[in-house]
Amino acid sequence: MQPADQQRLLADVQAFCEALREHEELCYVEHRFNDKLVPLAKKHNILGMPVPVEYGGRGADTVTYAKALARIGQEGTGVRTFFSGHTSIGQYPIMTWGSDEQKRQFLPPSCKGEKILAFGLTEPDAGSNPLEMTSTYERKGDHYVLNGVKYLISNAGIANVIVMFAYSKENRRISAFIIDMDQPGVQREDLLAKCGMPTANTGMYSLTNYKCPLANMLGPEGDGFRIAMGTLVSGRLSVAAGCLGVIEDCLIESIRYAKERTQHGKAIGKHQLVQEHLAAIEMARLTSEAVVMKAAEAKDAAAADPGNAELKVRSEMLAAQAKLHASNAAWDAADHAVQLFGGRGWSTLYRPGRHLMDVRVCRIYEGTDEILKLKIAAALLGGKEYEAYK
Ligand SMILES: Cc1cc2nc3c(=O)[nH]c(=O)nc-3n(C[C@H](O)[C@H](O)[C@H](O)COP(=O)(O)OP(=O)(O)OC[C@H]3O[C@@H](n4cnc5c(N)ncnc54)[C@H](O)[C@@H]3O)c2cc1C
Repeated sequence: MQPADQQRLLADVQAFCEALREHEELCYVEHRFNDKLVPLAKKHNILGMPVPVEYGGRGADTVTYAKALARIGQEGTGVRTFFSGHTSIGQYPIMTWGSDEQKRQFLPPSCKGEKILAFGLTEPDAGSNPLEMTSTYERKGDHYVLNGVKYLISNAGIANVIVMFAYSKENRRISAFIIDMDQPGVQREDLLAKCGMPTANTGMYSLTNYKCPLANMLGPEGDGFRIAMGTLVSGRLSVAAGCLGVIEDCLIESIRYAKERTQHGKAIGKHQLVQEHLAAIEMARLTSEAVVMKAAEAKDAAAADPGNAELKVRSEMLAAQAKLHASNAAWDAADHAVQLFGGRGWSTLYRPGRHLMDVRVCRIYEGTDEILKLKIAAALLGGKEYEAYK
């Protein structure tokens, strides 16, 4: 991406964030879905940031997109999660494995906000191990018939299109499908009993004898697991970038509050133990920025040389490392910010408390802490026999 285009995109993201903030805060306190997010994202043309220009997007490279997600992450993990669901794991698999016809059919309307996207891998009994999924498909004449339940899906309640995964009833291999959620056979339910992210949509859906056109299989038959795992690299990077934004916002808010709030006759920022919180948040910011940008650069390098297996493995590993580091660093940073804010920190009226509740999920979705640690350790040990799980 040319520097001028990058600057324009980041300026649009900044304008979107400024326009969204007041309504996001209101919706958060009222515990309801932010109905202005999509219209504002549409207005600022940021619903297809990394999608190639020829398919209606902005053509951002991974580094630029990560910077955009970090800025969006400052507005809250719920806001950033919408973009991860729609773009990083929704549009991304279609961009990467879709046929030209599928790209033309689904990407331009998704960039215009006419179609919202999501990614359906997790099921009630298949989370960390997606191979335990029970969703199935079978070919019947000119279409596939799909049955199954997908659980804890970002944007499930608002999506028009979901990239989802199911086993063949015939050969027990997983394939990927582009599901039109406005067709018969779809039931959905919003999951509202969440610890955080009240302004974002998280849901479940089921397909009952859902008829999917043959043309909507994504990638070659039997390639679903590879597509799902490849998409998670993009997803993990988006979570890591969003967590960097959370840390940045915790730092901005904490510096401001440390100067404004006085106790014992002086600004709390003049108490040395309060300064310790600021130093800890800054270190979380610095290290997370380094690892997120390194992972984004590695993904761009791998994309520029698609046949290079070494670059691909490196970018997968760095995305896992960035996600593991930044999500834990953001959790710690939000905790420091809450402490620095005192009683107000433990209130949803202030940003640190909201960040703390929301960012906790980043250590769970797109690969839990445990799964990412196992992945990193197995790679260090360097042999299939060290893979703690398959
Ligand atoms: C808000 C939210 C949004 C989400 N969005 C999406 C989405 O858009 N699309 C989607 O497909 N999914 C989504 N998910 C699902 C998410 O990816 C899963 O929750 C996650 O992968 C963990 O699966 P699980 O909840 O079934 O936990 P489990 O897999 O049951 O894990 C429970 C615990 O056991 C540990 N564990 C499991 N296996 C091992 C092992 N081999 N070794 C060590 N420890 C292990 C886990 O780390 C965890 O601590 C979302 C989840 C949430 C909460």
